[in-house]
Amino acid sequence: MNVEAYIALGSNMGNREKHLKKAIQTLHFHPSIIVENISSIYETDPIGFTDQDEFLNMVIKINTDLSALELLNVLQDIEKSHNRKREVKWGPRTLDLDILLYNHENIETEQLIVPHPRMHERAFVLIPLSELDKNIRIPSRKESLSTIIDQLQDKEGVRIWKQKNGVDVFALLEN
Ligand code: ATP
Ligand code: MG
Ligand code: MG
Repeated sequence: MNVEAYIALGSNMGNREKHLKKAIQTLHFHPSIIVENISSIYETDPIGFTDQDEFLNMVIKINTDLSALELLNVLQDIEKSHNRKREVKWGPRTLDLDILLYNHENIETEQLIVPHPRMHERAFVLIPLSELDKNIRIPSRKESLSTIIDQLQDKEGVRIWKQKNGVDVFALLEN
């Protein structure tokens, strides 16, 4: 498993916590993926399309042997199995799984852009990411993560909903 990748998870429909937990378990069961660490769960006000319910968001760190495109396909299959529909851009969803970082690579294809092109403007992504590694650098951004977070406007819209407890990665999934 020679690649380190970070994935952002979000849900604002149905049993939001269950969607997140199930997705993490499915990823961990994949023979070419190890879930290395998970952030706390945050509740966040919707942005972009604001007339919808609040989200639960979190970020996980994985190790994988999959190529970035293979990983995207796995994520999209999991979204489909959670009955994800794409009706309104940035609208309500059972589950969104986005690749934030894939090693330190810059990828630009029709289907996949990494680092995720909007991650640097999203408190609901950067705050949980910084919980996992506050020193991580976003390729092609010269500012540190903490500087980028300090400059964000919508931080009050991101609140801890379930704190990750201690060092056990999977404790959060159990209760
Ligand atoms: P946003 O990308 O702004 O968070 P979204 O997650 O709601 O919006 P989706 O409908 O989930 O958008 O995805 C639209 C397309 O984005 C996907 O079909 C996928 O091909 C593409 N995409 C590009 N880069 C990425 C990435 N880093 N992670 C996930 N999907 C990506
Ligand atoms: Mg998204
Ligand atoms: Mg997405």
